Amino acid sequence: RAKATHKGGVTFFHPSMGREMSERMSLEQQLREALAKREFQCALQQKVDLRTRRVVGFEALVRWVDSHGTIHPPARFLKLASELDMLDDITAIVLDNLCEALPWLDRGFGADVSYSINVSPVQATRSSFVRQLVRRIADTGRARNFLLELTEETFLATDVFQLQCLPLIRAAGIGLSIDDFGTGYSSLAILADITADELKVDRSLVASIGQRPRNQGILRAIESLGTNLGMTVVAEGIETAEEKDYLLGSTGLAIGQGYLFHRPQLISEMVGGVPE
Ligand code: C2E
Ligand code: MG
Ligand code: MG
Ligand code: MG
Repeated sequence: RAKATHKGGVTFFHPSMGREMSERMSLEQQLREALAKREFQCALQQKVDLRTRRVVGFEALVRWVDSHGTIHPPARFLKLASELDMLDDITAIVLDNLCEALPWLDRGFGADVSYSINVSPVQATRSSFVRQLVRRIADTGRARNFLLELTEETFLATDVFQLQCLPLIRAAGIGLSIDDFGTGYSSLAILADITADELKVDRSLVASIGQRPRNQGILRAIESLGTNLGMTVVAEGIETAEEKDYLLGSTGLAIGQGYLFHRPQLISEMVGGVPE
């Protein structure tokens, strides 16, 4: 139990610290139970052709659906789950959820769409995790439909040699995606070192496109740079028709993802559900 520390009669403990600590402990307890009960699920968000709205892929996003049916987003639990070393098990559940639904998704969307899995910076450096992930994906026989999304931050913060996943995922035929691109100070340097299949332009660049005309130029440059390096460039977080029109009209970006098109949806709640 947390205790106040006294030094010469001065209390170095504020009541709010006690509240924070007990909140953390109760969330920790809830997360352990959630994992034991496999309460984590895979939500999918469509990546679409901006012109035709045709679905070209899906991003898998973890959700915690508690016993009351409340859906918790990653912001609520991902950091703590990572600190508690629970993230690998959670990812495995999400991936199982997705792989089990593949036959059904194929019937609905065809066998050519891609599936992206997010990998945290810590996970990307752990070969045991990456091996397990790659094996599970390879077991589907569809490795070429899969991409792993690593954030730009992961590449900036981690020595490329420590990224265990890169040779392993290449060898398995799985694709690599650079997530949240364009926010760091050395975004461009990454492109010199990393061969990736997809480049996801961070939402912050998309969100300000209307107010900051210079961002149109930046996005146009990223689009042609990415395309010249053989990557599919994807705009993240498109919320409005104006943003979409700017992207199509003045940047050349053709693929996007965002609330304007589809919100992430639990596989278990997608129309028709997942039969047998
Ligand atoms: P991300 O990989 O960059 O995922 C995109 C996030 O943007 C998702 O948030 C998605 O719901 C949200 N989003 C999509 N379209 C829009 C839009 O139009 N507007 C706005 N405001 N947001 C939009 P989400 O699902 O809450 O996930 C947050 C982050 O958590 C992800 O960012 C990713 O870094 C991490 N994450 C999610 N699932 C997993 C997972 O299974 N494993 C790991 N390691 N990380 C995950
Ligand atoms: Mg992502
Ligand atoms: Mg992103
Ligand atoms: Mg992000």
